Amino acid sequence: MNLIRMIYASAISETCSIQEIQKILESARRRNVPDEITGFLCFARGFFLQILEGDHKVVSETFCRIAQDPRHANAALLDCSPIAARQFSDWSMGYVGETKANRALFVQYSETDRFDPYKLTRDNAASLLVALSDQQKASQRQAAA
Ligand code: FAD
Repeated sequence: MNLIRMIYASAISETCSIQEIQKILESARRRNVPDEITGFLCFARGFFLQILEGDHKVVSETFCRIAQDPRHANAALLDCSPIAARQFSDWSMGYVGETKANRALFVQYSETDRFDPYKLTRDNAASLLVALSDQQKASQRQAAA
């Protein structure tokens, strides 16, 4: 497998409701499992930030499909690089919205007091998503204990 990661930012469409995000996740997970795509999606302040990991061809095709989805707009690629190993292998598509617990992470990596994923550097976007995924796993473990 020619493993890559792709990170993009986008803005939710006016016609897309917050409730619709659950449907987006359901179809993403349904498709990503057989496609062997892993990753993480976050939604905050009206913006999406998503990382997709998997085979180069499959990730590219998936991104093209996602970019045409009318539920968001202005998809901008922040990173597309070969990787040696997956960082999100636990998630067919993990998800987190903005919470009190993770607000500090958005500020830390955005380097501004307002989250704007379009302004993130490639490295900060990747680090933010890893930090959000780690925090999400920790809170899930806590809830299950
Ligand atoms: P369906 O889910 O049945 O959708 C068929 C078509 O209708 C698609 O073109 C879809 O874009 C459109 N559609 C469905 N519901 C609505 C609606 N309520 N309003 C307007 N149009 C609608 N897909 C993945 O495979 N993997 C991902 O990781 C992934 N992440 C996503 C992240 C975001 C932020 C968004 C907005 C979408 C994401 N998607 C992802 C969904 C992707 O855009 C396609 O909708 C999906 O892959 C198509 O699945 P499907 O063929 O089963 O069709």
